[in-house]
Amino acid sequence: DAYIAAIEAANDTINAYVAVTPEKAREMAKASDARITAGKAGALEGIPLGIKDLFGTEGVHTQACSHILDGFEPRYESTVTQNLWNDGAVMLGKLNMDEFAMGSSNETSYYGPVKNPWRAKGSNLDLVPGGSSGGSAAAVAAHLCAGATATDTGGSIRQPAAFTGTVGIKPTYGRCSRWGVVAFASSLDQAGPIARDVRDAAILLKSMASIDPKDTTSVDLPVPDYEASIGQSIKGMRIGIPKEYRVDGMPEEIEALWQQGIAWLKDAGAEIVDISLPHTKYALPAYYIVAPAEASSNLARYDGVRYGLRVDGKDIIDMYERTRAAGFGQEVKRRIMIGTYVLSAGYYDAYYLRAQKVRTLIKRDFEVVFNSGVDAILTPATPSSAFGIADEDLAADPVKMYLNDIFTVTVNMAGLPGIAVPGGLDRKGLPLGLQLIGKPFEEETLFKTAHVIE
Ligand code: GLN
Repeated sequence: DAYIAAIEAANDTINAYVAVTPEKAREMAKASDARITAGKAGALEGIPLGIKDLFGTEGVHTQACSHILDGFEPRYESTVTQNLWNDGAVMLGKLNMDEFAMGSSNETSYYGPVKNPWRAKGSNLDLVPGGSSGGSAAAVAAHLCAGATATDTGGSIRQPAAFTGTVGIKPTYGRCSRWGVVAFASSLDQAGPIARDVRDAAILLKSMASIDPKDTTSVDLPVPDYEASIGQSIKGMRIGIPKEYRVDGMPEEIEALWQQGIAWLKDAGAEIVDISLPHTKYALPAYYIVAPAEASSNLARYDGVRYGLRVDGKDIIDMYERTRAAGFGQEVKRRIMIGTYVLSAGYYDAYYLRAQKVRTLIKRDFEVVFNSGVDAILTPATPSSAFGIADEDLAADPVKMYLNDIFTVTVNMAGLPGIAVPGGLDRKGLPLGLQLIGKPFEEETLFKTAHVIE
């Protein structure tokens, strides 16, 4: 009831929720009470969560914040959300996001932008919460849920977490099932939690992760008790500092944040080593070929027949065209066009295949570093703190917006786990995040190291 009241009071301003489900929440909470009374409480019994609108939730609004999915209520539940309900969690509603998870500011949502609960000192300017999981991050930061689900294809958990002073982890590709999650770029998409601190993130991920026969890329590995790693010593751990992340024009404050992170880990007994990830500079351009290519294929299914919106036309082709023209927003159309282009005959080898080769090189860079005895890598999570809503500079040039993902996309390209953890405030009093990158399926290392920083 307290969370629902908080949402009712604040959501008109923050716009984090696109659907609130108070009846369902109360019904689930009642069932939780009964299980607690019976001494059968699950790991998340009664914990109220917000769910990113990308996750299919049975009988509940699921539109990936796109007009083209108008009115869509799936007849199935995504594996990740089902895992959460099985452990007793309670659903408060569906959270705003960039349309089909394409964006870094939550401004491509059909439901309008989300306001970051943070503002710069002495300023009235509304800031973005980051994206694409902007609703998830803002809801957690504003206490409109105890934790949230999110997804990360190129930074969409970590960048919004960094912009809102919350913790977000993208686990290793394959840790969480993608079944029932609206697909963006299937070889990169992963679900993960956004939470108020590292311990909450660890508890949530434990529930979300599982092998799933319905997603053949999910892995058959035991899910460790992540919470147990909180408070463990990092003495003797080797932390790599990649020189390629010291990008041109990096703001002084980001450099200072990074140095502060290094100092904290050193104080806790970690050994700091300089490393090189030579193909880093190709990650962003390669990502912006691979992700749109997969998206153009995945989004072919929205044809006015199977889901959501239909705009009638004089014949079926005309109907497809009108539906897609009306249903997709500008950024989604841009991605579909780029994706279709790089997959087309004559360009496939030059763009898509080449980007996939670059991806292999990026993955190998990390393998070399981890094989040399490095346990985790520390970088800034984003090149800046949160920026203003409707920033003219960014609106004029989509590539500038893509630069937000410069520190996060490599992790998706390599399939590795990455966590964003608050590292402090900038001069304007806005949160900044640090990122830790780990070896495949070693999320525990990230939790214990991030806990030293938080
Ligand atoms: N900002 C990136 C993009 O627009 C990442 C999105 C994501 O991780 N879902 O593609």
